[in-house]
Amino acid sequence: MGTRESDVKARYDELCDLITKYNRHYYIEDSPLVDDATYDELMRELLTIERRYPSLKRGDSPSLRVGDEISPVFSKVAHDPPMRSLGNIFSEEELAEFDRRCRKGAGVESCTYSGELKFDGLAVEVVYRGGKMTQGSTRGNGSVGEDVTSNLATVRALPVFLAGENPPEYLSVRGEVYLTHGEFERLNEEREGQGESPFANPRNAAAGSLRQLDSRITEKRRLDIVFYGIGRVTGDVITDQRGMYEALRRWGIPVPEYSTVGTIDEIAGFYRYWYEHRHELEFDIDGVVVKVADFNTREALGATSKAPRWATAWKFPSAEAVTLLESVDFQVGRTGLVTPVANLRPINIGGVVVKRASLHNFREIERLDVEIGDIVTVKRAGDVIPKITGIHQKHAGPGSAITPPGRCPSCGEELNREDIYLRCRNRDCPSIRMERLKFFVSKDGMDFEFFGPELVNRLHQSGRLAGMADFYRITRDDLLSLDRMGEKLADKVLESIESRRRIPLSQFLKALGIRNVGEHIAGVIARNAVSLERLMGMEVEELKGIHEVGPQVAESVYGFFRDRSVLSMIEDMKKAGLAVEDEVTSVTVAEGIAGKTFVFTGSLSRKTRRECEAMVEERGGRASGSVSGKTDYVVAGESPGSKLERARQLGVTVLTEDEFLSMIGEE
Ligand code: NAD
Repeated sequence: MGTRESDVKARYDELCDLITKYNRHYYIEDSPLVDDATYDELMRELLTIERRYPSLKRGDSPSLRVGDEISPVFSKVAHDPPMRSLGNIFSEEELAEFDRRCRKGAGVESCTYSGELKFDGLAVEVVYRGGKMTQGSTRGNGSVGEDVTSNLATVRALPVFLAGENPPEYLSVRGEVYLTHGEFERLNEEREGQGESPFANPRNAAAGSLRQLDSRITEKRRLDIVFYGIGRVTGDVITDQRGMYEALRRWGIPVPEYSTVGTIDEIAGFYRYWYEHRHELEFDIDGVVVKVADFNTREALGATSKAPRWATAWKFPSAEAVTLLESVDFQVGRTGLVTPVANLRPINIGGVVVKRASLHNFREIERLDVEIGDIVTVKRAGDVIPKITGIHQKHAGPGSAITPPGRCPSCGEELNREDIYLRCRNRDCPSIRMERLKFFVSKDGMDFEFFGPELVNRLHQSGRLAGMADFYRITRDDLLSLDRMGEKLADKVLESIESRRRIPLSQFLKALGIRNVGEHIAGVIARNAVSLERLMGMEVEELKGIHEVGPQVAESVYGFFRDRSVLSMIEDMKKAGLAVEDEVTSVTVAEGIAGKTFVFTGSLSRKTRRECEAMVEERGGRASGSVSGKTDYVVAGESPGSKLERARQLGVTVLTEDEFLSMIGEE
C-alpha cells in the first residue's frame, strides 16, 4: 500500500470509529456529541472514500447500517419489511440527479413525486391487528427495534382503535414521534426547575421521552405523532402516496398537514417554500423528503440495505463558516449566570455579519477543547445567537487557554461554582440589575412595545432609570431629552407602559425574572396563589405542594420574596402606579370535574378523544392515558380495551360517553 493510500486508510478508520461513536450517543443515549451538519459532513467524507477506494470498505462500516445497536433494556421487535433510512441530497443539482436516477432505474420518461416535510423526531412503527393497536416500536437498527408499546399508547394523537368500517386485519404504519416547541420549552423549564440538565433539542427530548422504562414519564411529556408510510397492510390495494394518505385518514391515523404531489420542479418549489417558512411551524423539520409517488415504480426501483432508491431527504443547509476566535468575554446574565461569549474576526454567514458567538458554558469549552487563537467553525441557525460548533484548525503558535474567572467581571464579587456553571450571587451587581431591567421590558417580560435594550441603556445612562419602579415614573420630557427620540415614538413608548399598568399576577411573576421561573411555571404558580399578597406569604412547603413545582423552583420563589430589596422594590412599583391583579383563570372550575382524573378508552362516537380531554382540562380536571389508583372516572366508548378491565378491578367509576357529556354539561 502506497503512502497516499495508507493515509486514506488511516483517515477512513478514524471516520468509521468517530461516526460509530457519534451514532451511539445519538441513537442510544439520546445525547449527541456533535451537531447534525458536522455528522453529515463526516458521513459524506466516509462515503466519498468508499466510492474512490472500494477495497478499503469495512464490513462494519457505519455506511451500511441504519441507526445503531438497540438498547438491551427493551424487548426486541422485528420489522418486516425493514425500516430503512434515507439517502441525503443538499442541492437542486443533486435533486436533478436523483430524478434522473429514478427515471433511468424505472425505465420511464417522467416521474411524479411527493414532497413532504422531514419531521425531526424519532421513527416508530405501530401495528394494528383486527383494528386494534397491538404493538409499537422504535426503528432501532432497521431490522429490529425496541418495544415501546405502552409508552406509545400514552401519545394522545395515536388512535388505539382504527376508525371506519372494516379496518384491515393487519396494518403496520410508520411515522415520527416528535415534540412541539412549546412542549419542549415547558419540559426543559420543568427539568431545570428540578435541577436536571435540559435536553439539547426537541429531537433528543422526544427520543429520550419515548425510550423510557416507565410509561408514566412518557405520558407526562405530551409527545406528538404523525405517519407517512405503511409497512404492510392486508386487504387494501394502495397504488400511490396520495391513496395511502387517503387510507390512513379513513382509518383515523394522523398524517402530515402539509405535503404535495407533482413534478420534480414542483417539489423544488415546495422545498424552497418550506426552507423560507420553516420557522412558522411549531415543530422542527430538517428538510423535505422526496419520494416517487407511484408504488409500482417504487417496487421497480427497490432499495439498498440502508435506504430505498425511490426516496431521498433533501436537507436544509446550515449556515456555517470558519473564522478566528480573537478573545472571550464573560457576560453576567439576569440570574447571575456568567457565560463565556466569543469575540470573532467578523464573518458573513448566510448574509449576516457575525462578530460574537456563544460558548454556552465551561464544559462546552472543555468539550470543544477550544483556545483563543484557534480557527473555529461558527454556525447560525434561525434567529438564535450563533454558536461555535468546533475547531477548524488549531492555532499555530502558543494559544491562550480560556480560564474561568474567579470574580464577577462586573461587580468583583467572588463567583459561586454550580456544577458546570459560574454564578454571581450579588443581587446589587450592576450587570444583573441591568439585565433584569432589559428582561422586564422584553417580550418575555412585560412586553413593552418600542422599548428595547438600547432604550433601557440610554435611560439608565441619563440617570432616569435605576430600578423597575422607574418605568412607571418615566415622563414625556424624560424621553424627549434623549437623542434620536421623536414625539411620536415617545408617545408610543408611554402608551405601551400605560397599557400595562394593570397586569395579571402571572405576567408580573414572569417579568420579575426569578430564577427557574419561566412563562409556564409563572402561570402555574399564579393560578394557584391567585393574589400577589398570598404568593409573597407562601411557605416553601406550600409552594412545593403545587403540581409541577419542584423543590428548586419553590426555593427560588420563596427566597426571592424574602429578600428585603425585592420587597421594597415591589412597594415602590405599587407607589409608582403598578397594579398587580388577582389571577383569573380561563379554566372554569367545574364542580365534580375540577381536580378529578379521567381516562378515556375505546372509540367515542360523538366527540374525539382529544375534544373530551380538552373539555376535562378546561374545567380544571386532568386527562390521563392510563388507569391507576388515582383515576376517578373511566369513560368507555365502543370496544374498550384493557383499561376498562383495570378500572373494574380497581373499582373506578365507569361512565358511558353520554353520561360523561351530560356530566360535563355538553348536553
Ligand atoms: P435521516 O434522519 O436523515 O432520515 C431518515 C428518517 O427520516 C426516517 O427514518 C424517518 O424517521 C424520518 N422522516 C421524517 N419525516 C419523514 C417523511 N415525511 N418520510 C419519510 N421519513 C421521514 O436518517 P437517520 O438514519 O435517521 O439518521 C441520520 C441522520 O441523523 C444524519 O443525517 C444526522 O443528521 C443525524 N445523526 C446525527 C448524529 C449526531 O451525532 N449529531 C448521529 C447520528 C445521526
